[in-house]
Amino acid sequence: MSIGYNHVRARIHVRAIADNFLEMNRRGGNCYGVVKSDAYGHGLAVVAEALAGAGAKTLAVGTVEEAASLANTTFTGRVVALLGAQLPEDYPLAVAHDVICFCGRREQLRRLNEAAVLARRKARVSLKFDTGMRRLGFLPEEASEVLELVQSLPNLEAIMVSSHLATADEPEQEAHVHEQGARFKGVVDVLRAGGLEIEANLCNSAALLAFPEYHFDGQRPGISLYGGNPFYGTSREELGCCLRPTMEVTSRIYQVHDLKAGEGINYGLTYRAERDMRVAIVGVGYADNYSRNLSSKGWMVVGDKRVPVVGRVCMQMTAVDVTDVADARAGDTVWLLGGNSPAAISACELAEWWGTISYEVYCLMGMNPREYLLDRDIQRG
Ligand SMILES: *Cc1c(COP(=O)(O)O)cnc(C)c1O
Repeated sequence: MSIGYNHVRARIHVRAIADNFLEMNRRGGNCYGVVKSDAYGHGLAVVAEALAGAGAKTLAVGTVEEAASLANTTFTGRVVALLGAQLPEDYPLAVAHDVICFCGRREQLRRLNEAAVLARRKARVSLKFDTGMRRLGFLPEEASEVLELVQSLPNLEAIMVSSHLATADEPEQEAHVHEQGARFKGVVDVLRAGGLEIEANLCNSAALLAFPEYHFDGQRPGISLYGGNPFYGTSREELGCCLRPTMEVTSRIYQVHDLKAGEGINYGLTYRAERDMRVAIVGVGYADNYSRNLSSKGWMVVGDKRVPVVGRVCMQMTAVDVTDVADARAGDTVWLLGGNSPAAISACELAEWWGTISYEVYCLMGMNPREYLLDRDIQRG
């Protein structure tokens, strides 16, 4: 899980994650904290406990195995597995830990019921409908058949109905959100008319921020808990400006030296000095998940200044131009993400230089050795 051979550190601001949850929950009213993929690289157990402290009653992970691992934390609320039961061993595991599995195939419903009968327990599930993502789930027109099947399985309790939006973070594709929203509402109506008491949830972070009309009974924010603005670079950017950054990533300068005008640096000598300059060699590279796409494109923070990456990102080292940082020397801290000055780099900015989204920046940078800034005095919502 964690990279063990470098000087890179991902520092997690636990309090900021709790604050972001409170902010989103104030809007939605019943947020399930999405903590899949090791809490977007922030660490599942610590984040789960912080969200519990902020009042989260439900968390959502990816696999059933991840869901079961929450039993080793102080979180005692409901746990949803968004990927649902996939492996044969997932079915008994989900039942034993009372994991609420997303189910989008009939076989999953039958097998969860069987596992529940064997264990003399109930299996609680969320019926997952594909309203326009074209990824996982029953089709809306199958709603009555799914209802019948669920009602014929004695140890199954369908307590939620869910769907996922494909374009909620793209203002220019808003029409598709409304198509999905209308289809979802149709499914919810069919299930309720058939007698199911069911908690409907559709929104991810972007929809929670932009479409209050689709808040239904629960919401599933993920990226917003980690301070990522799903609307970064769009006309709705303002909507996500209320969030606090949650991860800083640092490394160290290994060496500082002059580069004369005309000299090239690093593999391929792809960058050539246009003037006499000073460069710092920083201890981070693509083996630390600092993407090679950042070659001559990224920026880092040294002291209170942003400095550009010059030349190729190597496996464990990257050069930056520190000509304008008078006192840079070996051993100094360098921020790849964050920083303690107005020059701080946001996950969205880093993602833009990298050619990706903040989600991937967090998941990948968070695989570096982590340190936690804990603040036990988390305010309850
Ligand atoms: C990851 C995920 C979310 C959270 O989405 P964000 O864009 O991170 O808020 C919600 N629902 C499902 C099904 C997901 O897989």
